[in-house]
Order: sequence, then C-alpha cells, then structure tokens
Amino acid sequence: MNGSAEGSGGKAITIKSRDEIRIMEEANRIVAEVLTLLEKTVAPGITTLELDQLAEELCRKRGAVPAFKGYRGFPGSLCVSINEEVVHGIPSRKRKLKKGDIISVDFGTLYKGYYGDSAVTIPVGRIDSVKHKLLKVTEESLMKAIERVVAGNRVSDISAAVQDHVEKNGLAIVRQFVGHGIGSSLHEAPEIPNFVQGSGSPRLQEGMVVAIEPMVNVGTHKVRVLRDGWTVVTCDNKPSAHFEHSVAVTGEGPLVLSSREAFS
Ligand code: MG
Ligand code: MG
Repeated sequence: MNGSAEGSGGKAITIKSRDEIRIMEEANRIVAEVLTLLEKTVAPGITTLELDQLAEELCRKRGAVPAFKGYRGFPGSLCVSINEEVVHGIPSRKRKLKKGDIISVDFGTLYKGYYGDSAVTIPVGRIDSVKHKLLKVTEESLMKAIERVVAGNRVSDISAAVQDHVEKNGLAIVRQFVGHGIGSSLHEAPEIPNFVQGSGSPRLQEGMVVAIEPMVNVGTHKVRVLRDGWTVVTCDNKPSAHFEHSVAVTGEGPLVLSSREAFS
C-alpha cells in the first residue's frame, strides 16, 4: 500500500527504539516470507484470489494480521496489479495469470502492534524485453535508494536516487503515489516521493523507518483509478512495476527489514 496525497506529510516523524525495530523486523520477515512464497507460486493459470488466500494463510499461521484487509475498505489481504495496473488491484477468482504478464504483489502485516510492508513485481513465465527492462530498472532504483537511507541524509536524497536511475533509463515515475514512514501505523510521516520536489525535505535520523516504493511506468507517468475505486492503472495502458522495502536508519547504515535473502 502507498501513501497518497492525503497522507501524513505534516505530522511528526516517529523514532523507534532498538526493541521496536526488532519487532518491525519480525513483522517484515513475515511479509518477506509471504512474497517469497508468491514468487515461487506465480504461474500461468493461477488466479489472483488464490495468491491472496495463500498470503493470508501464511500470515495468520505466523501470528500476524494481514494489514491491508479492510484498510479504508480494501477487500483483499494482498494487492495484485497486473501489467498496466500500477497498485491496489483487488484479488479476484475470475482473474487468471497468463504467460507474459507481470504481476505486482504488495503485502503488509500487523504484528505485535507494528507494521511490515513490502512489494515485488513478478514475471509470469517468459516476458518481453520491455517488461524485463522495466522490472530490472525499477528494482535497481529501489536498491540505489536504500543505499541513501543513512542518518544525516535527507528524504530528497532517497527520491533523487530513484528518479535519476529511472529517468536515465527512459522510464517514467508515478507521482500520484509515494512511499511513507512506517511503524505502529501503516502510513506515517514522512512521505517518501520517488521524485525530488523542492528543497528542505526532512533529514533522516537513527530510529526512523521508511517504506520506499518506486512505481515506474514504461509510457506516461500519468495514472487513473478504475471504477472499482481501488485499481490504479496507467493512462496509456502500458505496463507498470512496483518494488518496495521497509528500511530502518541505524548506526550501522540501512537495515532492510523486509529482505527476502534468508528465504531464497
Ligand atoms: Mg506496500
Ligand atoms: Mg507502502
């Protein structure tokens, strides 16, 4: 899930203790385990509702609550966004994955009072070179942004890292949705845009946790919301990708709480 325009811009940024960050690591580890399971499961013929059910089942088995279910009325546990869908797609028993699709899966947990949030875009079988480049560049832009999650840097350093890499590669950044702080609320201050806007963005300090989530389009950066009230699609129907990690600012540099490395 993403922060949107009505987000948490003006509120104070919360600083987490080491113990809180440890709990957030657990919350995000469950998200990472779910996304790893989905990476292994995605295949032609699977419905998006089946993915949603797998995600919810594993989440609850680990003692966590799916954070998106019922969030502002969202009907699913998992956001599933295929091809030109950018974010917030609703799981459906009618929607089957096809070879050559890309599917963005975004999952959140609530565990011991703290949230985890991460997303990945997964290829369904072989994908064309345009989609391949889209996924590669979007994930790379997230990794470059994570390197900037260092005390003393500003939020705009994160934004610039995403924007530079994406635009250098001729792709477009979605502006209507942004990343966010995360903690005992799913969406906290500060907003983390994927593009630089003005100067004077907040400075990062030890104990902050941010969800960085580039949403990147092949064609126009413009997006619109479908009549279901949730699904965000590109205005030109060209593909879009979404990668997200929850990252803590620590004395030892960026700590990726939602890392999937332990599971793959
Ligand atoms: Mg998310
Ligand atoms: Mg998010």
